[in-house]
Amino acid sequence: MWEMKPKPGYIYVLTHPSDPNLVKIGRTTREPEERLKEHNSDYTQLTGQIVKNTGQEWVLKEYIHVSDTVWAEAVFWDTTGLHRFEGKEVTGMQWDFVMMCLDEAKNAGIRPESKQLSKPVRNKEWMINELVGTGITMIGHYRGLVTGVEFECEKGHKFKESPGVVSNRKTCPYCDLEEANKNKTMFFLSYELIPIQNSNLNKDAGGAFFYLWIKAESMDEAIRYAEYNIRKNEWRIVKQLKCEPDNKKSYEGDEEGIKYYEEADKYGISHLYQWWPKEHDKE
Ligand SMILES: [Zn+2]
Repeated sequence: MWEMKPKPGYIYVLTHPSDPNLVKIGRTTREPEERLKEHNSDYTQLTGQIVKNTGQEWVLKEYIHVSDTVWAEAVFWDTTGLHRFEGKEVTGMQWDFVMMCLDEAKNAGIRPESKQLSKPVRNKEWMINELVGTGITMIGHYRGLVTGVEFECEKGHKFKESPGVVSNRKTCPYCDLEEANKNKTMFFLSYELIPIQNSNLNKDAGGAFFYLWIKAESMDEAIRYAEYNIRKNEWRIVKQLKCEPDNKKSYEGDEEGIKYYEEADKYGISHLYQWWPKEHDKE
């Protein structure tokens, strides 16, 4: 049934700078770096076409050693629940999710004697058991490892995620964010922008203002993060209008401003930003 005998090697993940969620999953019995070179240079394949079209190369983001590459890859795709196209495993996937599936692949071992893809039971009871001791409760209806379900933590944060991701991480994302943001300062940043050339934005988009509140350890970090977001959204900076550590006092009397500030403070990094087309401003 399987096309070859078990062989040790690697499952690797390539990411592409054109899109943070674009990944290529592959298996190899050689060195992952060798495969990376091939993916970046073989224009007859989908990965190579992406390089050709964007002028940007794939990056080897992660790889794991496995004792049976074919089996580990099958387990990876089985965990994703996504349809797999042979030889064309380029897809959009969130990084948390990739890590969860890699974890399953890492623990896959060697293919079972039976020809069927048998895997441990991942039902509702299993999930509830996975949450024991984490302080997290599953409040939504479990519909398998992949489909997003609502969870609630001890502090009352509610979030919706794939059970597989939660069972792997075992923490609340908002609690994690609070912890990570403990020693950070809130910055307020404002930019004047125009669409970058050849972007996918509507050519009539005109200029815009970009405002955001951002938690960071330093002003440099805040600016780096803001400007990454701006580039990602295909805007070019004309002028940086304002960048300063801010506090709630600045919004006294400004109900909406305070509301935004509190939301940003609650969720941390770059949660809130808004675009205002220039024309809109003139009215
Ligand atoms: Zn929480």
